[in-house]
Amino acid sequence: MLLTITTTYSPATDLGFLLHKHPERLQTFDLAFGQVHVFYPEANTEKCTAALLLEIDSVGLVRRYHGQVRDNFALAEYVNDRPYVASSFMSVAIAKVFSSALSGKSKDRPELVETPIPLSVKLSTLPCRGGEIFLRRLFEPLGYTVHAERHVLDGRFPDWGESRYFSVTLDKICRLSEFLKHLYVLIPVLDDEKHYWVDEAEIEKLLKHGNDWLSDHPEQESIVNRYLKYQRRLTRQALSLLGETEVDDAVQAQEEEQIEDRIGLNEIRLTKTTEVIKQSGAKRVLDLGCGEGKLLRNLLKEKQFEEIVGMDVSHQSLKIAQKRLHYDRLPEKQKQRLNLLQGSLCYRDKRLEGYDAAAVIEVIEHLDASRLSAFERVLFEFACPQIVVLTTPNVEYNVKFENLPAGRFRHRDHRFEWTRTEFQSWASHISKRFGYAFTFHPIGPTDENVGSPTQMAVFSRESGDKSGLEIPPTREFSES
Ligand code: SAH
Repeated sequence: MLLTITTTYSPATDLGFLLHKHPERLQTFDLAFGQVHVFYPEANTEKCTAALLLEIDSVGLVRRYHGQVRDNFALAEYVNDRPYVASSFMSVAIAKVFSSALSGKSKDRPELVETPIPLSVKLSTLPCRGGEIFLRRLFEPLGYTVHAERHVLDGRFPDWGESRYFSVTLDKICRLSEFLKHLYVLIPVLDDEKHYWVDEAEIEKLLKHGNDWLSDHPEQESIVNRYLKYQRRLTRQALSLLGETEVDDAVQAQEEEQIEDRIGLNEIRLTKTTEVIKQSGAKRVLDLGCGEGKLLRNLLKEKQFEEIVGMDVSHQSLKIAQKRLHYDRLPEKQKQRLNLLQGSLCYRDKRLEGYDAAAVIEVIEHLDASRLSAFERVLFEFACPQIVVLTTPNVEYNVKFENLPAGRFRHRDHRFEWTRTEFQSWASHISKRFGYAFTFHPIGPTDENVGSPTQMAVFSRESGDKSGLEIPPTREFSES
């Protein structure tokens, strides 16, 4: 499989600086699935072409996947189109071999990275599910001139018709990193396949390489669906991060409220949270997973809090929060105290650093268990506020909710609900790993057998400058 990148920028050999590959050298890189060779078929001041040749070791791949050659020899595993077409293997190769160019870095020529240059990319064989129409729909809105030539299925047998394979040339005057990002995402989208298991980490890659251009792309939904292999849980999250949420969070939140309503649990939770944060002396506060802004409303009433940030992954919830807080009608001074951010707690976010306190109320149970460790680092290692007030349902209490069928969680989107022991052991893991002391508090009416409906942990950073903040009192909260 061959991909070539040509420029007529003058001097064209500057392409070597952009790709971090010397035009006079042939270089070979070993990847898990074969080898990649980079070389320049032509390199002069008027025109320079870099070629990336992918050699996939299909036999090695099958052996590695199965640990050994299997007895029941499956021909399709050895004889398939993968070595000959541009696919997710190509995206991995681009990310590996042209990593600096992809992320727009150049040690020697930083100004060049920012310069739009005439570029032409040829892909010898690109599988396009959806045909030329879909190919054009992907690249033309991004400003590319597209030339596509369809291959017949087999030249010897014209009756067999046309294949889904195309030779494609894409032309555009732009920064090289922009071009590579489009290729990185869109090649596997056109192929509609991935050679590896797709999970949450794939959202991160999609956002890293697609954030600048996917939000406005008319085919955003098809791109996200194909890129994430139609896994609804993942596509919903990605679309929401890109600002296109179709999830009706409000309806689901209402269901949970109805279940817990009889005991006014939400109100108790929010009052206690505000009280604990206030007692810590915090001035700058984060409400992470703020939802529709109920805690934000309580926090705004307290003059002690000079800066309040609400963050949520859902645009829809943030819009509701803005409306419920009458943000547009707030006096200028109040407006300056409040900031609403869209973002995910599973990705490191510099905007969250340097705060005194963070509330994470009824949020962690919405995170996939596999993303919990990412969340832990984002909050306790990178944002690392002085105190964290975190609540989550106590699953043991569910037996006391008459209108909740046995074995069901309180909310359709909950990925887990913990017992008291599970929550405490998670809290003590946080404490050990990130250097936070913690106290544990029941919230809501406490039953002697099953405990309280909500459980709260208050984490206080053990080391570093506490800026005069006090650790909140460790007294138990129990309502009745
Ligand atoms: N804290 C609010 C809302 C709780 S509902 C309250 O107590 O009323 C859970 C909220 O977490 C939802 O608004 C959901 O959009 C948000 N959420 C889920 N996953 C998230 C993530 N990865 N990053 C940020 N917010 C998230």
